[in-house]
Amino acid sequence: MASAKNIQTDTANCPCGSGRDFHACCDPYLQGEPVPNAETLLRARFSAYATANERYINQTWHPASRPIKLHLHNAEQVRWYGLKIIRIENGGPDDQAGLVEFSAHYQIKHRQGQLHEISHFARDNGKWYYLEGEITDIR
Ligand SMILES: [Zn+2]
Repeated sequence: MASAKNIQTDTANCPCGSGRDFHACCDPYLQGEPVPNAETLLRARFSAYATANERYINQTWHPASRPIKLHLHNAEQVRWYGLKIIRIENGGPDDQAGLVEFSAHYQIKHRQGQLHEISHFARDNGKWYYLEGEITDIR
């Protein structure tokens, strides 16, 4: 569990937990600016989930593994917060692939849980995509 001192209470802060203002952090990517690396894409997609931005989730999912239909229709009932980056391998400007391991908290109605996942990313024609995730723990 994340310690309470890490919890941000300022609502202007980006949902990805960077501590920066949303408009100076993930928002430009959600508006279409290309991400420079895999970690930034993970953060931007997390912010997209947190704000139920289905369009961005779709656009940044690799066509080879993109679901036919996303099920974010009840996303407003799931609140994502407390993203913590645990490990980053590759995924930089000179890489074609990379992985980011992270944990995050979620709340569905009054139930709180934690997700631990290793996300895989691939770069295609210079653009980073989310490929797939291995959920290593969810509770
Ligand atoms: Zn952010």
